[in-house]
Amino acid sequence: MSISASVPSSSHILVFGTIKDYRQWRENAFETRRSVGFVPTMGALHDGHLSLVKRSLAENELTVISIFVNPAQFAPHEDLATYPRTLPHDLSLLSALEYQPANPPNTPRTPSAIFLPSVKDMYPSGISQDVSQQKGTFVEVKGYGEQMEGRSRPTFFRGVATVVTKLFNIIQPTNAYFGQKDIQQAILLRRLVGDLHLSHPTQSRLHIVPTARDAIDGLALSSRNVYLTPAERQLAPALYTALRGAARTWAAGANKRETVQHALKDLEVAKHEGKNQGVEIRVDYIEMNDPDTLEGLGDEQVQRSDGSAVILSGAAWFGRTRLIDNIILGNLEGIIAK
Ligand code: AMP
Repeated sequence: MSISASVPSSSHILVFGTIKDYRQWRENAFETRRSVGFVPTMGALHDGHLSLVKRSLAENELTVISIFVNPAQFAPHEDLATYPRTLPHDLSLLSALEYQPANPPNTPRTPSAIFLPSVKDMYPSGISQDVSQQKGTFVEVKGYGEQMEGRSRPTFFRGVATVVTKLFNIIQPTNAYFGQKDIQQAILLRRLVGDLHLSHPTQSRLHIVPTARDAIDGLALSSRNVYLTPAERQLAPALYTALRGAARTWAAGANKRETVQHALKDLEVAKHEGKNQGVEIRVDYIEMNDPDTLEGLGDEQVQRSDGSAVILSGAAWFGRTRLIDNIILGNLEGIIAK
């Protein structure tokens, strides 16, 4: 089995701009009993997104990618208007993907369709970024969206849960793929799928794919990295470096408080370095949480003897750009797909 990138002469990918057109196509896939893999994105695609698409190509007969910058997950002060939009480049990246199955019929697989809905189609009742002004139907996953990212972005996961529920209902995927990069989002969505008894996908068919990183300095790939100035970009791997240092402390027997302190101390060093270069680094949080419930660990908690998994995550501002990252400590089985 191999996945290669080659640029075909013209794009073979169907582009659906309306829910109605997509549904006709999906009906046909149901009738012919073909599996549909789904990768939801906000566009500005990079190798992290493509790793999800490659997984889908390998595991499904058909693959659909959605590109939709979802207004409901941006707070009024956040970057909805300036979020990078690079559709022609996104299409050329997707057109270049090809997966060669090892087994007959050996027909190479390429992305089948892109779903590009309008805001009006996705939010028939309209959508305001100001939650107090919103009307219509919204989805909340209580207990999963208030900690970690939710502390600084209190309406973010309501927006994510709502749009992904809509997308699942439209796309009707056999399998869906999300990045570990946004681990809280993926775990919250697994809970949502289970709680709402969705059938497309089922809970076990919501897959979490490891974070794709810069090959040299380990920075997690993100559409928002383009916001970084050269000096900020150079310092940005400090978050991942701090998490890795803390992970080693945890593995050596430190408790949660000491592990978090270790990461914060490392970031303090980066902060001083930043100051010398005119870059302001501000830590938002470093947290350790249970991967099933997302509950925070107690201060004295140490690694369990069974090696059960813990999420070590953090967010920090590099200048005006907020970056997030995480590491899963312990046994990944059942959390992250290989
Ligand atoms: P976004 O376009 O940022 O909403 O991301 C779409 C999907 O790609 C989400 O499931 C993200 O978690 C995933 N993703 C983003 N960055 C990465 C990365 N560096 N590695 C793996 N998945 C990623």
